[in-house]
Amino acid sequence: MAPDRDRSPDAGPDAQASRPILTRRDVLAAVPAGIVLGLGGTAMAGPDAVAPVPARRIDEVYTAPRFHWVGDGFRVAGYFNAIPDALQRLDPFVLLDYAPEHAFAPTTARRGVGPHPHRGFETVTFAFQGSVAHHDSTGAGGVIGPGDVQWMTAGAGILHAEYHEQGYGRRGGPFEMVQLWVNLPKASKFHPPRYQPLTAAGMGRVTLPGGAGEVRVIAGEHLGVAGPAKTFTPITILDLSLAAGARHDVNLPDGYTVAMLVMSGAAVIHGRRAVGQDDFVLFERAGSRISLAATTACRILVLSGRPIGEPVVQHGPFVMNTRAEIDQAWRDYRSGKMGTLDD
Ligand code: MN
Repeated sequence: MAPDRDRSPDAGPDAQASRPILTRRDVLAAVPAGIVLGLGGTAMAGPDAVAPVPARRIDEVYTAPRFHWVGDGFRVAGYFNAIPDALQRLDPFVLLDYAPEHAFAPTTARRGVGPHPHRGFETVTFAFQGSVAHHDSTGAGGVIGPGDVQWMTAGAGILHAEYHEQGYGRRGGPFEMVQLWVNLPKASKFHPPRYQPLTAAGMGRVTLPGGAGEVRVIAGEHLGVAGPAKTFTPITILDLSLAAGARHDVNLPDGYTVAMLVMSGAAVIHGRRAVGQDDFVLFERAGSRISLAATTACRILVLSGRPIGEPVVQHGPFVMNTRAEIDQAWRDYRSGKMGTLDD
């Protein structure tokens, strides 16, 4: 598709993608007002009329909770801790740790988190500045560099360790990352562990016209451009960069969970609600269109997915459906059934 298609704020992408006809906006622009009024608004009511994409309203805006350290490498705000009923309201997401830009001094020491297990979900690590090195009990390992995303399916169980990559550690400098936990449905909780190393070069890219910005598509699709991530349930994750003054609509399926993390800058949502850096915006499940207007240059991470709708029990590094399954996970971890990992 053409990523630089004109995007009128009043006619969603569906209107422009699949309907080569006039929109109501076009008609209003082309016809004197009196004539439109004389038509009684019925001119567009025929079978080819384009229904406006229904807006999705904001449920709540959360400011950043206090930072805490994960190991000695990740200074994060754990947003979901501050959200009541987060496991239900954010289903299929379980956790969001955001490490905003933080300057680390150069060091030869290793900073990060040593071996620990996971079961029953996926960890998705986004590196924005700085690099993260990882290795795990399957023998796999690698580096997540700036712009890369590592999508790890813990599934049946894995041990891994996450550190600042050595070269970055020695240079020091700004570090910025996100780790998102994505739940797995009951039927997939024991899937064999796997990695998807999603490189910056392999992301879907939508360039907005007129220098308005760019959308990186990590999972799902946006304006017909698909992201590289394979997911077990429908998920759309977008990394939006908008120039000051740019307007952009994001349409996501009715019924999906949708949230936005404002990583930098400021924007106005639906022409009314101003949001700024570190705000986490949770939307209602009903509706589709979210209209954004960038007050300043801004970067917004869009998280959305179809709710799984199953019971969720999270305890430490495990996310299962029942307490008994959590207890079993701890037993399996302690008895070595998730593998072993030397540090
Ligand atoms: Mn981990």
